[in-house]
Amino acid sequence: MSYFLSLFSYSFSTEQQTSLSFAVQDLYLERQTSETALQSAYQLAGASSFTTSSQNPRLSRALPVSLRTIISSSLSRATQNPHSNFKHHHTPLTMCKTALHGALHALPKCEHHLHIEGSLSPSLLFRLAALNNVPLPDSTLDPSFTSISALEERYLHFTSLNDFLHYYFIGMSVLLTAGDFESLAYEYFVRAHSDGVQHAEIFFDPQAHTHRGVPYKTVLEGLSAAQKRAEEEFGLTSKLILCFLRHMSETDADVAYQEAVSLGHFSNGTIAGIGLDSSEVGFPPEIFREVYAAAKEAGIKRTAHAGEEGDSSYIQKALDICHTERIDHGIRLVDDEVLLKRVAREKTLVTMCPLSNVRLRCVGKVADLPVRRFLDEGVRFSINSDDPAYFGGYILDNYCAVQEAFGLTLAEWKGIAEGAIEGSWCDESRKKALLSKVGEWAEKYEGVA
Ligand SMILES: [Zn+2]
Ligand SMILES: [Zn+2]
Repeated sequence: MSYFLSLFSYSFSTEQQTSLSFAVQDLYLERQTSETALQSAYQLAGASSFTTSSQNPRLSRALPVSLRTIISSSLSRATQNPHSNFKHHHTPLTMCKTALHGALHALPKCEHHLHIEGSLSPSLLFRLAALNNVPLPDSTLDPSFTSISALEERYLHFTSLNDFLHYYFIGMSVLLTAGDFESLAYEYFVRAHSDGVQHAEIFFDPQAHTHRGVPYKTVLEGLSAAQKRAEEEFGLTSKLILCFLRHMSETDADVAYQEAVSLGHFSNGTIAGIGLDSSEVGFPPEIFREVYAAAKEAGIKRTAHAGEEGDSSYIQKALDICHTERIDHGIRLVDDEVLLKRVAREKTLVTMCPLSNVRLRCVGKVADLPVRRFLDEGVRFSINSDDPAYFGGYILDNYCAVQEAFGLTLAEWKGIAEGAIEGSWCDESRKKALLSKVGEWAEKYEGVA
């Protein structure tokens, strides 16, 4: 998950938040020095003069502690990560040339790591903007907004994360009504169904909407309606996971949690569990220990993004302090041998997002992901799309990218699919039905590749 919301909660104007956010993203991708980066952050925020933060405590104090944490953690990452250069390497998409493509397309899939707000396609964006009278940028200033295809084309060529965020903010502004959220989720389900998804567990960020004046109930009404349609129309079952934005306070997370609790949304199955997303480094899981403890006490499922950019200690703390039953991303697991073996032994599901990891420079290329290691060690994992409309691929694209990089066998894919089902939060009868679909798939494709 990106940094797109990192600045929502602070007392800056929307424009300043956007500008600051972009400046923070620059740190990743342009390897700016701390001074240059902070300078651009302050200037964009409208500060009239700049010296380094240590020389100018007034300006330094003007930035909230958590924003400064984002900046400094981004800085350390920008200097440590050899792939965090500005040059964009575009990930090839769609039809791979592997012999297993047809089988991979047909493989009954579960998706566990999908931010519904990250699936807003350009065509829906234009439709909702017109419907809601939300002004889009003047196409004479940004030709990407000339047409849907121009915007689609533009998304293929993000030059940096801040470039991505610019479009992401514009996208989010068009989501206002329950109908908008229904359209958003329904469009995702249609696409997921065409990629062979049978069961999806999707994240949503209530704080991202309530903080811009869209009520929680509106979001839920729309998402729930889409879920119902997807199940009726294509037999695609789904669950919702309420994510807390980790750059916001624990108190604010608790407000979101309590609103869902008060409406009975956990107990009546409207929401299956809780998650934790947004900026990882500097916001360790234990900040949210109380809300996670309350959820555990109430029998609510728990997951968290951990070990995407953060080191393996984030994973260990998510498991030991927040008692999560899953780990989202979790690629840094390879840095802690003991933890890796424990996750394998306990069959904790790790939800990987290959194309996202490449786009956000967590790895240089898909082949650098620990897919082979996880298979060898028996770590249970699933392959997912994260923010597909922006990061260059839906779930099948991610499967294909893994196949191109690792050349897995049909039996290995069968094992991955079965693990994904076992690690899902659907009931036992649904798991059984899905497992038998995978069994049929394996028989049908036996001998291919
Ligand atoms: Zn994510
Ligand atoms: Zn393929």
